[in-house]
Parts: sequence; C-alpha cells; structure tokens
Amino acid sequence: MFYVISLAKCIGVFDLTLIIGTILTAIIGDYLLKKFVRDLIRGIIDSTTHGIIGLLSWFIVTLHIRNRYSKYEIFCCGIFASLIDIDHFIKAKSFRLKHAMHLAEVRPFLHCSSIPVLLLIFSTLINYIFKSNKILRYGWLLWTAFMSHHIRDANRRGLWFYPFGSTPPLSSFSYICLILFLPYTNVYCLRFLLSSFGYEAKNYISPSPASDVCGIDIV
Ligand SMILES: [Zn+2]
Repeated sequence: MFYVISLAKCIGVFDLTLIIGTILTAIIGDYLLKKFVRDLIRGIIDSTTHGIIGLLSWFIVTLHIRNRYSKYEIFCCGIFASLIDIDHFIKAKSFRLKHAMHLAEVRPFLHCSSIPVLLLIFSTLINYIFKSNKILRYGWLLWTAFMSHHIRDANRRGLWFYPFGSTPPLSSFSYICLILFLPYTNVYCLRFLLSSFGYEAKNYISPSPASDVCGIDIV
C-alpha cells in the first residue's frame, strides 16, 4: 500500500505522457502485427515496438533518478530491447529472416527471463564490492531492456524462467499493465539500493511545474 501511495505521489504530467505513449505503442504494434503477413514487415514492426517500449521504460526511470548520461541510457535501453531478437538468428544458425522467425518449439536463449534476474543480482553484488553506481544502473538498464521485451512476448508464449518452466501466456491487458509496472518498480528499488549503498544523491525540483517533484540526481 505504501508502495502504491509513494508511486502515485511521484507521477506527474511527463510520466502520464510516457505511460500513454507506452500503451499506444503496444496497442498499435500488436494491431500492425495482425494486419501484415510479410516476415520482413512484421520483423521491422516487432523490433521497432520492442525498441520504443524499452526506450520509454528507461525514460520513465530517468524522470525520477537521473544523471548526466540519462539521454544516452534511454537510447541504449531501446536498442538493447530491440536487439534481443537477434538470438532467433543464432538459434536458427541462419541470417535468413524466414528461418529466424519460424523456429521450432524451443525458445532462443535470450528469451529466458532467468538471464535478466541473474544480471540484476550479479550487478547488485558487483556494485556492493566495487561501490560504483554505474554498474548498478547498467544492470538495471539491461534488466529493463530484457524484461520489457520478455513481458511483451509473454502475450504469446508466457514468461520463461529456466529451469522452473514458463508461465501461461499473458493477456494483452496484463502484459501492458506489467510493462507499465516495470519502470516504477525499478525506480522504487533503485532508490532503495542507492540510499542503502550510501550514494550521494540530491533531491531536485524539476524546472517544469508540470513534472514530478520527487526525483533525485545521482552525482
Ligand atoms: Zn522476442
């Protein structure tokens, strides 16, 4: 309950714009995928949709926890989120789109959600040892890129947590809600971790009265 209240207090007009942008991107992407049948067009639509959703997810995080590299991080998160499908080509052992998009039942390895979970744990541990907030941020950035992609794909095949198995496929409503939930959970956890590790952070009041007033700059 405390989590929901503290999140609600932090959501400003910028957040709402990005939330609406994420919802529209997911809906339009899914609609276009149903409309087109050619592999090339479908591949471009799917990768672009993943990329935009990944980008917007980290954009939301940087609204609340920012540093001087925020704009590069937003771009990187979008690129990573769309590059995850590269494992289709690796699994197919072919550069041909037809082979990559029509794999047999076994899912390609980068679609295993245990990987981002391990990345998150590993980056937190490394950060604890080397005391670098960059490692922590990049770990969470990769987690966001992976999970925004996996959650969207879960609409068709569920989330896959090797060796435990897969969840049932998520409805469109559930996956969009989870995608929106992801960056705010990141903000909440990152703030907790950054303050636990004693990083110097200063509260800022955004120059825009329309945006949130509860972000922090990491210096
Ligand atoms: Zn995928």
